[in-house]
Formats: sequence, structure tokens, C-alpha cells
Amino acid sequence: MISYFTRNMIGPATPERGLQHRLADSTNDIMARPTTSPAPAASRRPGSLKNAEAWVFDLDNTLYPASSNLFAQIDERMRSYIADFLGLELDEAERLQKRYFRQYGTTLRGLMNRHGMDPRPFLDHVHAVDLSPVPPDPALEAALARLRGRKLIFTNATADHAENIMARLGVGHHFEAIFDIVAAGYLPKPEPKVYRTLVKRHRLDPPKTVMIEDISRNLEPAAALGMTTVWVRSANPWAAEGAEGDHIHHVTDDMVAWLEETSRQD
Ligand SMILES: [Mg+2]
Repeated sequence: MISYFTRNMIGPATPERGLQHRLADSTNDIMARPTTSPAPAASRRPGSLKNAEAWVFDLDNTLYPASSNLFAQIDERMRSYIADFLGLELDEAERLQKRYFRQYGTTLRGLMNRHGMDPRPFLDHVHAVDLSPVPPDPALEAALARLRGRKLIFTNATADHAENIMARLGVGHHFEAIFDIVAAGYLPKPEPKVYRTLVKRHRLDPPKTVMIEDISRNLEPAAALGMTTVWVRSANPWAAEGAEGDHIHHVTDDMVAWLEETSRQD
């Protein structure tokens, strides 16, 4: 158990993370807003963060920073799996992978819909990655400990992958549930139906729920249900698509610092 004092001493001590994000952000053109800012007037007013009873976190590139580049490994493993599965050259497999990702929300969904692929061996294969680029994160652990309310993971990946990541970070004990792609019936975010299933299954009250995520468009259905949204910016331009919309209520380049600041305002 980490004491209150220790947690405060850890404080916003994530300069490397912040710097990486700032450097990464300099490579694209989404720097219009400061690190933490209210978004333009929302069509539905976001609930107060103080009254939040539940926190729904995305996993990849949210719970750990995009700069760890873990997705590059997943990406490569998807490509080789597709090449083997469909008998394609790697460059053809890559084109198909990207096309399905854009068209269906996940490459997996495209492969299932178009080729009748069994999702389980694919998911096990693509998530068998080297997790060493994700170091233990005591600052995140402390920030989660201070944050009042229930905490859940909502991911387009598998629960096994989420558990492996959380074990690396040292934060698994803070989360009461993982709602993964299997729980979602292999329908990925941002499919609105999946958000409704999440809310029902875990008895969430959307106006008292905050969702934190790096892919802007995945926050749209959450905001439509009445959740408060936090967009974690990264250097991935596709993650920023649609970020100017009023479904974005808070923006941060450094989620841990944002959580620390938010829990201090309690
Ligand atoms: Mg993500």
C-alpha cells in the first residue's frame, strides 16, 4: 500500500513521458490546444469530474504512452499472420490490413467479415509481443490510487493482453473489470452497440462515467451516451481524426499528469 505522502511525493514526476509526447506532437499539426483544456461547447454538457463514479480506460496507447511503440510489433505480427492466412506477399497483406482497419474499425473485423477467419488464433498471435518497451509505471499506479471511483478497461484487444500490460505497469489491482473484444462479440470500438453493452453489463451511469482514450473517434459514442470524455493525444495522425468535434471534453498530452491534477481538485 502506498501512503498518501509517498503518492504526493511521486507527484507529476513524469518528465520523460511529457517530453516524449511533446516531441512526438511536434511531428503533426494538432497542437492547437493547450495540454489540458475544455473543448468547444459540447452538444451535451459533460458531467463534473468531481462527481465521477466510474473511469473507463482504453488500453493500448492510453494506459501506456504511444511512444513505447508497442503497436509496431502488433502491426507486424498482424501483417505476417494475414500473409500466411491468405497466401499473400507481405506488401499485399499490409495494404489489406490498413484497408480493413479503416473500413471495419479493426483489421480483425475485416478478416472475419470478408474471409470468415477464426478470431482466437489471430488475437493470440498478434498479442504475443515483447512487453519490455512498457516499463513499470509507479506514477500511474499512484495516480490511479488517488482517483476515486470504479475503474475498468475497455479495449479492442484481448483480456489476456490487457492483463499482461497491467502486470508490466503494476496497476492491475486498480481495475475491477476488463471489457475486451471477446466480451464485445468481436465488434470493435467505435461501434455504438458495444458501448451500450458495456454500460449495461457493468451497470455504469453514463453522466457519472469518464472515458479516457487515444483514438478520438472512439470517444464519440461515449459522449453520445452522456459520458465525459478525455482524449489522450499522441503522434498518430489517425488517432486524431475527428478530434475537433464536440465529443471531446478534455484533452491531454500526458494522462498521468492529468489524472494527478484531476484527483487534486477533489
Ligand atoms: Mg488505444
